Formats: sequence, C-alpha cells, structure tokens
Amino acid sequence: MPLSTADQRNILNRLRTARNIVILSGAGLSAESGIPTFRDASNSLWTNIDPMAVASIDGFKQHPEKVWSWHQDMRKLFLDAGPNGGHDAIAQLEALLQPASLKVITQNIDGFHQSAGSSWVAEIHGSTSRVRCHRRCGYVSVWNDHAPHQCRVCGAPLRPDVVWFGEALDEMLFELAEETCESADIFFTVGTSGVVQPAASLATLAKNCGAMVIEVNPRETPHSVIADHVVRASATEFFESLCKAVKALKLRQLR
Ligand code: NAD
Repeated sequence: MPLSTADQRNILNRLRTARNIVILSGAGLSAESGIPTFRDASNSLWTNIDPMAVASIDGFKQHPEKVWSWHQDMRKLFLDAGPNGGHDAIAQLEALLQPASLKVITQNIDGFHQSAGSSWVAEIHGSTSRVRCHRRCGYVSVWNDHAPHQCRVCGAPLRPDVVWFGEALDEMLFELAEETCESADIFFTVGTSGVVQPAASLATLAKNCGAMVIEVNPRETPHSVIADHVVRASATEFFESLCKAVKALKLRQLR
C-alpha cells in the first residue's frame, strides 16, 4: 500500500471492527478513466469554457440548447470511458468487508460507481444517466439518446438530472448523506478538492462524529488538515492495494 506500515496497520485495524464505512468521491476518482477533473489546471473541463454558460441555472434559461449539447458531450465521454480500477476496487471492498456496510457518497455525475457494482451510492450532484422535469412535477426518466426536451407530463422544459451552479442540492438526499456520515467509523475522502460545499463539509461532520478520516489525493486539500491519514497517491493505486491487503488479512484469518 502507498502508506507506511504503521498507517496501513491502523487503517486495517479500524476496518476490521468498523460497521459503517463511507467513501466520499470526487472527480479525481474518475480521472484515471480519462475524465478530466474540474480544477486540475492542465486538463480541466473548464479551460476553454465558461461554467456559467453550460452548467448553471441562468445558462439553461438563456441557452438551453447549449447546455444540453455540453451535457450530451459529457455523457458520451462517460459512456465511452467507464469505471476504472479504483471504482472496481471500491465495489470489491464492499463485498469483502461484509457484514459491515460500505456506502458511497459521490459528487460525480458519471454513474461509474454503479457500473462497477457498488450497491449503495448517493449521487448528491445528480447523474447524467437521468433527465427530469425542470419544474419538478415528479417526472424523471432514464436519459436515452432521443430524450425529448419537454416534460411528457406537464410540458415544462426537460433537463439533465444534475445539480448546476446556482442550485441547491436535493435536501432529502443530502440529509441522508449527513446521517450516513454521522454513523461512519471510517471515512475516505477521495479525489475531491474539498472546496465544493456542502459536499466538502461531510468530511468534517464524519470526523466530529468520531470517524477515522483518510484522504486519498495526490495534492493537498482543505481535508488534509483534518485527516488522520493522508495518502498522496492515485485513487486506483490506493484502493487496489487496500483491496489486496484486506484479501490477505481474510485469508490469514481463515487459516
Ligand atoms: P475537483 O476537480 O475540484 O478536484 C479534483 C481533485 O482530484 C483534486 O484535488 C485532484 O488533486 C484530485 N485528483 C486528481 N487525480 C486524482 C487521482 N488519480 N486520484 C485521486 N485524486 C485525484 O473535483 P471535485 O472536488 O469532485 O469537485 C468538482 C465538481 O465537479 C464536483 O461536483 C464533481 O462531481 C464535478 N465533476 C464530476 C466529474 C465526473 O462525474 N466524473 C468530472 C469533473 C467534475
């Protein structure tokens, strides 16, 4: 594992007794699938585009076609890429660590955790796998390539089911995420810059409620100062080696 032996032992010990394991993921987890993050300077999705034009509520009101088209491009990028070894290892850990629960709270809108096999995923910023009624009449549907741009039920504009700049998160879903963090024994913050609120506050909440906090990120973030362990490695490298270590531990216990 990309960690000292003592840190590794600490994490494995906590995992052995943990009942609730929580992973907060961000764009960096999908970087190794070839999806650019939002804030890494060299390959940012925002380098040549104004976020307010394509991913904000005002942008949608002014140029809905432009917003649809940008999200269609994003969706195609996601469909062509798919999950990477980090997502796969997280899904494997869920199975390996049972009967403990492993829950994922993700800021990502790519659906990769579910594709990899994770069963409990709270997509607090929504997902490009769905479209919904902009007026929130209740209509939600799978986004297929021929999605109409009008709600089938009430005729209001239809839109990708994602949270844009200038919008609030789904309140009930975020409350569920908060409750999940309050009962976490161990909390991983992975691939997130820790600056997008309120998502970033979940790490502090988990810490204040007694969780061991582990940050997995090649760079320093505001989460680094509250983390019990900081892993300066890629998400794939860390979770694949954690998976290996948990498997080895289980084998030893069986013997
Ligand atoms: P961010 O772009 O602000 O930060 C990405 C973080 O990932 C950085 O701290 C970076 O150091 C780290 N990182 C880069 N490569 C990594 C790797 N291989 N392993 C681990 N960490 C790595 O992302 P954010 O904090 O998630 O916030 C941006 C917002 O944009 C969120 O809402 C996010 O969901 C959304 N977004 C989603 C996607 C997606 O769905 N794949 C892609 C881009 C942005």
